[in-house]
Amino acid sequence: MSELKTHSGGCQCGKVRYEVQIDLQGPVISCNCSMCGRAGTLLAFVPAAQFKLLSGEDALTDYQFNKHVIHHLFCRVCGIKSFARGAGKDGPTVAINTRCLDDVDVKKLNVKEFEGRSR
Ligand SMILES: [Zn+2]
Repeated sequence: MSELKTHSGGCQCGKVRYEVQIDLQGPVISCNCSMCGRAGTLLAFVPAAQFKLLSGEDALTDYQFNKHVIHHLFCRVCGIKSFARGAGKDGPTVAINTRCLDDVDVKKLNVKEFEGRSR
């Protein structure tokens, strides 16, 4: 059952702030690729329409690797990767780093391992 709720989140220093409508009952992805495995992100994917960047567009630095389909954005001040932008099969998608949501206890999330290392 899907339960969309509005959560706010952002980077550590406060430059990057966003609001997202997200269902946190669903699984969040713990990926072991060369990026996520190092950063420890716990990702949940939402359509771009459910994501609103409130501040910090100018503080974001874009990093791309591998197939260059995902924009791995991080705050140039504090270095935190609070979300990423990509193209899903149903259109523009945002990957939320659920560790960066304000009011979420990540220990209670339904974490699903993803084998990204070999891709
Ligand atoms: Zn920051």
